[in-house]
Amino acid sequence: MKDQIQIYIVGSGYVGLVAAACFAEIGHRVVCVDNDEAKVQMLREGGVPIHEEYLPELLNRHRANRVEFTSDLKSAARAAQAIFIAVGTPQSETGSADLSYVDAVASEIARSIGDYKVIVEKSTVPVYTNEWIRKVVERNGVPQDLFDVASNPEFLREGTAVVDFLHPDRIVLGAQTERAAAVLRAIYEPLTSGAYYRVDHAVPGPRTSDDPPPVLLTTTKAAEIIKHASNAFLATKISFINVVANICEEVGADVQDVARGMGLDSRIGPKFLRAGIGYGGSCFPKDVAAFRHVAEQMNVDFGLLEEVEKINAEQKRRFFQKVRSALWTFRGKKIAALGLAFKGGTDDIRESPALEIVEMMLREGALVRAYDPAAAARASEMIPAGPQMRYMDDPYEAARDADAVVILNDWQEFAELDLPRLKKTMHFPIIVDGRNLYAPQVPLELGFTYISIGRPAAHGLTVSVERAGSDLRRPAMQARAFVPPRIAPLVGCETQTGTLARSEGA
Ligand code: NAD
Repeated sequence: MKDQIQIYIVGSGYVGLVAAACFAEIGHRVVCVDNDEAKVQMLREGGVPIHEEYLPELLNRHRANRVEFTSDLKSAARAAQAIFIAVGTPQSETGSADLSYVDAVASEIARSIGDYKVIVEKSTVPVYTNEWIRKVVERNGVPQDLFDVASNPEFLREGTAVVDFLHPDRIVLGAQTERAAAVLRAIYEPLTSGAYYRVDHAVPGPRTSDDPPPVLLTTTKAAEIIKHASNAFLATKISFINVVANICEEVGADVQDVARGMGLDSRIGPKFLRAGIGYGGSCFPKDVAAFRHVAEQMNVDFGLLEEVEKINAEQKRRFFQKVRSALWTFRGKKIAALGLAFKGGTDDIRESPALEIVEMMLREGALVRAYDPAAAARASEMIPAGPQMRYMDDPYEAARDADAVVILNDWQEFAELDLPRLKKTMHFPIIVDGRNLYAPQVPLELGFTYISIGRPAAHGLTVSVERAGSDLRRPAMQARAFVPPRIAPLVGCETQTGTLARSEGA
């Protein structure tokens, strides 16, 4: 691989740390800075603060030579050719992105610039942020010819972040000068030339030396909008299929058949058409809100995004009502909650629909026994363990004497439960599955009451879901006896086995 670039990354979170490890993996020298001293100390001592496949291996491989960690922004930045900003851009009270961390970092960077640097927005930011960063740096006395501000949005998904980074669908580079574009191109050259995929220790993934990722070189504004528009579109797809699922429930159709039929259309595609309990995580909710806010600021009516948010909130409420309709009341009921992170494969609990539903059940007096393969420690900081809430070490312990098992995210482990063993340990064999991890026949044939999303009464249960503003509550267990004939899988399609593709979501 060709030129080694000196890269400096501000922010060692899900994006910054993964970017640091991956840039080192493709041959560059990286200094990773964070103002969280405890995190920096942990990273220096060999710890890894987040759960991501391949991340510990890459950090171990490169820690001694190509990756360093510091909390001293100024001195380390002096040697850098490119400075990536990867700090958080949370949602503010108005819905807009809170750019105060980006602002603070831009001022600090300005104080360390002695020769030409490319400052790269890696964080997800609204359009025009690059111009604000430019102004801040200039106001701090840096001449225009000593820096450029570029945009290189990140599309990794938590849980598969390293593979996504090294095997991206596309690399978007927004630059206003050829000088800045050249630095960015050189950074990604090991991927775009395909050279990295020929290396013996390369992290495996979909890209190969014959099929390297394409680069889209564009303006900084377009690059900023690409990121917001992509996340808003994916969230829209999720809300869309969730409404379709609700129609399926009402009419007795199976949303997975509908999604499969839609997804086979190459104009639509099969991804992000899995009905569930709504999107969450640190990106979609805030990015939809921020993009809606951008539209408002530009006097553009983007009411569609308000609907997307409304549907998402309603989907969580609707799922909660499903659990209620299976149990009648919550007070004193023992519920095994499988899943706390916002999706499987990660320990990230930010804006997790799973946690929101756990909180709703606790508020109504349920006794929750929760299990998640990676997120329990973080969740316990938000919902401390106590008489009502306990964190368990395995799903069967969580399900002991439970009145119901509620599946709240899509860890592969939850799709592969030993159902006979689960049933033996439970008080009542009821599963309410928010991620459609099982073909309904499987738990039904084992004697479970099985409630899922968009797969209606024909699959064993009449599900009663209150409509907003109505207090109609029908008992749930009516039509247990009828098990539908198996639907022959379409050629070339994933069947309803409960086995999962890679977890979706940012
Ligand atoms: P994060 O909260 O995990 O990490 C941010 C890090 O920045 C933290 O470690 C924090 O201590 C550090 N930080 C904050 N202010 C700092 C400062 N002044 N100096 C040094 N360090 C500072 O956030 P994240 O999930 O990595 O997201 C970062 C950005 O990337 C956000 O804009 C997000 O929208 C975007 N993004 C996230 C993902 C994802 O899946 N998490 C995917 C694509 C894009």
